[in-house]
Amino acid sequence: MFSKILIANRGEIACRIIKTAKKMGVLTVAVYSDADKDALHVHMADEAVYIGPSPSRESYLLGDKVIAAAKQTGAQAIHPGYGFLSENAGFCRNCAAENITFIGPPVAAIEAMGSKSAAKNIMEKADVPLVPGYHGDDQSRDIIKKAADDMGYPVLLKATAGGGGKGMRQVWSEAEFDEGLAAAKREAMSSFGDDTMLVEKYLTQPRHVEIQVFCDNHENAVYLFERDCSVQRRHQKVIEEAPAFSMSEELRAQMGESAIKSAQAIGYQGAGTVEFLLDIDGSFYFMEMNTRLQVEHPVTEMISGQDLVEWQLRVAAGELLPKTQEQLVLNGHAFEARIYAEDANNDFLPATGKLSLLKTPIESEHVRIDTGVRQGDDVSVYYDPMIAKLIVWDENREKALQRLAKALSEYRINGVTTNIDFLYNLATSAPFKAADIDTGFIEKNHDLIFHNDEKPLVNELPIAALFLVLSKESKAKQQAQQSNDPHSPWYNANAWRLNEANLHTLVLAHNDTEHTVTVEQKRQGNDAYYSININGEKFDCQGEILTTPHNDDTIVATVNGHRSQTTFNHFENNISLYRTNGVFNFTHILPDCGQHNEDDNHGGLIAPMNGTMVSVLVKSGEQVSKDQPLLIMEAMKMEHTIKAPSNGTIDEIFFQVGDMVDGGAELLAFTEQESSSEESE
Ligand code: ADP
Repeated sequence: MFSKILIANRGEIACRIIKTAKKMGVLTVAVYSDADKDALHVHMADEAVYIGPSPSRESYLLGDKVIAAAKQTGAQAIHPGYGFLSENAGFCRNCAAENITFIGPPVAAIEAMGSKSAAKNIMEKADVPLVPGYHGDDQSRDIIKKAADDMGYPVLLKATAGGGGKGMRQVWSEAEFDEGLAAAKREAMSSFGDDTMLVEKYLTQPRHVEIQVFCDNHENAVYLFERDCSVQRRHQKVIEEAPAFSMSEELRAQMGESAIKSAQAIGYQGAGTVEFLLDIDGSFYFMEMNTRLQVEHPVTEMISGQDLVEWQLRVAAGELLPKTQEQLVLNGHAFEARIYAEDANNDFLPATGKLSLLKTPIESEHVRIDTGVRQGDDVSVYYDPMIAKLIVWDENREKALQRLAKALSEYRINGVTTNIDFLYNLATSAPFKAADIDTGFIEKNHDLIFHNDEKPLVNELPIAALFLVLSKESKAKQQAQQSNDPHSPWYNANAWRLNEANLHTLVLAHNDTEHTVTVEQKRQGNDAYYSININGEKFDCQGEILTTPHNDDTIVATVNGHRSQTTFNHFENNISLYRTNGVFNFTHILPDCGQHNEDDNHGGLIAPMNGTMVSVLVKSGEQVSKDQPLLIMEAMKMEHTIKAPSNGTIDEIFFQVGDMVDGGAELLAFTEQESSSEESE
């Protein structure tokens, strides 16, 4: 075994690898950029070497600097993690030239999987099922079109050099073919400098099911079951689970054996993932092989009880696979949710900022958190905005899903917009619970899972009002206890008025609608209860707030005789209630405090992140209407449209196409049109 390894990565994956290395008694070397000089992975490693400025192309992507750091520290092997240099054949080759072990597959295997069409050729020869289609060298329009016509529409055109969903176009009919081909080629040329295309049958309701494989250098190969990663946005995974639901033992074995065949066809060694599309009729087709550890590997670890990073180190050091196929046992069910700094309601716009509050659920045999950040850290513009991976396990899917929802409701992050509420809504939605899932899940269930959905309020409004009154009372009690005069009526928060009912009037906003709620404190014998009035409808409520140091702060509320427990998050004037059918967010509108409209948070005319201006769609002096696209910026390889926050006039535009823009910079001067006061109802 190696005595020291270098980890050519950052964030959660670097921390994850360091944990296993420590457990195995292997020393670790981290590398870091300017932005990461105080990062968690740097603190966790035994040594750390500075490799350059914050942008990854000036630090983490510079293979030579990484290799120099390994030589300087005497590391015998390099673990590339995922992303960055992990599938870079040149880097792998340079490691070998310097006598450093690359903890991953041989160069030839990385190269073989580098082109989608070359990979398909290899798999075809190895008898691995492929989606019907054409992936030949003759790239003439007529040949590709004939293949599409012959197999029937819809078809999918894909750039053979593609990745990340780029250079892909669905074509629904013969009439759309030429336009689709031209668009896919354009995108492929600009993204990869190569517009070679393949065409495939487009499956309309497939699932993404992938098999974890492992091979050693002694001709042994096993599969560690499968993961279902069908829940995707923009072809990126959001929640993964293992095993895949409704998977027969027979299908599992067939797919597992096909995956092993795929790996062996390219002389694979180490950890790899073979991605398949699984069609509704149970047929499955090879899509691609990822020649590295996957982001979602923890769900496989949870159901197999194996540490895949340990396996990687052992195999790279020349050992045999730790288990045979027969010794591997599938146990229970696991989910992984990727917690991102992003605004799900604003087209998943990446968010940046300081994690001013970061409290996680308690880790246990059921809950695991893989993260690379701590409270107070910045989510910067330079790297992937993933904050953590939340992984849960239980003996079956239903129980594991309950754990996932509970753990999501216990995550507390302030300072940066996150996708936690989106994930919670997704995990608690009826179709997800029923495993009615294919790769179109998010689009199909849009209204159920986005925060600003139209779920009807049932008891949530009285519970939110009750919460505010109860928390005010408990704060007053606390202050009284800490004061010199605990019995002073000034610390009484029961809204007592001489000769009047004890009445609170609250304004709570939900989905842009303001509700005026009155809460009257009453007594029946020794019991205090609250009569809550919302638009003439009365709710008799009792309740209690249970707070614990473990984030699972709960309000136990009885509303008109129906008692329920709800995890809540209360930050500043915002209250989130995590109910069994999704999250309900309320804002307590305080009188005369100049509350901001929710839209103000969405960046409007301020650059939401560092990026490049790619399109200016308006001119100075132009009148625009609310939500009209004004500017398009590109950041983190994605385009983001800046829209008008209201009707108004553009006074001045501060950037031109091609300009680099700093996050937070004012993009244009805008005068809002005076509106008639329609909101004062
Ligand atoms: P990339 O390498 O750009 O990520 P992939 O070939 O891995 O592209 O495909 C990404 C996603 O696109 C898949 O997970 C699946 O959701 C969808 N997809 C790919 N091929 C097909 C197909 N033939 N039919 C339907 N969906 C597909």
